[in-house]
Amino acid sequence: MASKTWLVEPVRDPYYDQSELPGEVRPIVRADTRAQAISDSGFLGLYRWTELRAVRAKEFDGQPLTPQTFLEHGWCFECSGCYARLTIDGREGAADPKPPLVVGQDVFCDEACRDKARQRHAEIEAENARRKRDLAELVAARSGEGAVKHGYRPADSGTVP
Ligand SMILES: [Zn+2]
Repeated sequence: MASKTWLVEPVRDPYYDQSELPGEVRPIVRADTRAQAISDSGFLGLYRWTELRAVRAKEFDGQPLTPQTFLEHGWCFECSGCYARLTIDGREGAADPKPPLVVGQDVFCDEACRDKARQRHAEIEAENARRKRDLAELVAARSGEGAVKHGYRPADSGTVP
């Protein structure tokens, strides 16, 4: 497995804009070469090859590429529950900021925000299940119509004299 870590980002015109775009996602990629890092970034298609650069991110070599690692290196995240901005110190603007709660690839302000995200997820699952049921009923009703239209009859069971 590749051991070098890279930060892949779009190259900007230095005479036009040096600032970072808000909310921009810059993929962290493990690869042996720059070219491989750019290929694996998922940016090709959004940008041309020549509009991207891969910068070595040695601070991530040998570390798990998790939100916790990124938080510890100064990156910011959005709470998956309330979408507030989070740093390793806590929620932006909070009177009494607490370190964020990291669960897998998600970062939350606290347990309350995790519950919010869980509830939203459950509502989406229920809605998807309802739509699936409606679709199945519709398909069943249509295939019933089809059977009549094509003159389908159950096989004759015969008569017993
Ligand atoms: Zn939150």
